[in-house]
Amino acid sequence: MTALLRAEDVWKAFGDRDVLRGVSLDLAAHEVVALIGASGSGKSTLLRCLNLLEPIDDGRLWLGGDDISDPRVDANAVRQRFGIVFQSYNLFPHLSVLDNVTLAARVVHRERRAVAEERALALLERIGLADKAKEHPDRLSGGQQQRVALVRALATDPEVLLLDEITSALDPELVGEVLELVRELAEGGATILMATHEMAFARDVADRVVFLDDGVIVEQGTPAQLFGAPREARTRAFLSRFT
Ligand code: ADP
Ligand code: MG
Repeated sequence: MTALLRAEDVWKAFGDRDVLRGVSLDLAAHEVVALIGASGSGKSTLLRCLNLLEPIDDGRLWLGGDDISDPRVDANAVRQRFGIVFQSYNLFPHLSVLDNVTLAARVVHRERRAVAEERALALLERIGLADKAKEHPDRLSGGQQQRVALVRALATDPEVLLLDEITSALDPELVGEVLELVRELAEGGATILMATHEMAFARDVADRVVFLDDGVIVEQGTPAQLFGAPREARTRAFLSRFT
């Protein structure tokens, strides 16, 4: 397998606290990988290191065969190859939904407004929110905002989608519509690495589940293997909280 995205023995500390302690992870094209682990285990830090929002202390990162941990690399150019969605505050509040979705295409990729807007409207149509194109984000529900954030992340055709607990801040009744869109993207062939506490969803949609504990990948496997027959005591202890 040639990995689309690869982390190789990645170390990251904040002050004297080692948050990632030798993490190695491969993601193949079109693979959907769920990253699970307790709060504070390093999931967000790993995602942020992968798209160069945080510098790593040691190790290497590869994207599509390029060494993106090379200090000479243009970090902004690398970040544009990822789509990232966080727990909340993804959209610019002062811009319309349409402008949020087209911003990167217009400003970063220098696409003509008409071209960017046509594609953005098609994406919004697909998620049933074309009628909200001119609204500001605060007129949308949290679930609608996260779906717009997903569509915005897709608007520039990223190679990999990084999703960081994107349903954690939502009211329970809004979680389903967001997960449903992630499922559609996964089925459509997107390459996705998602930190999540939605175990049922991970079990259902992920090709592989990776359990991170205290900055170390303790265990990984198919959902059936990891949820059905975890090998490590630490994995069993973590999963027991969800049953
Ligand atoms: P998770 O996403 O799994 O909850 P995080 O990656 O957010 O875990 O955090 C892992 C550890 O790193 C935590 O102890 C957190 O307090 C610490 N941490 C994260 N970001 C920073 C930062 N910018 N400065 C200092 N400590 C941080
Ligand atoms: Mg986190």
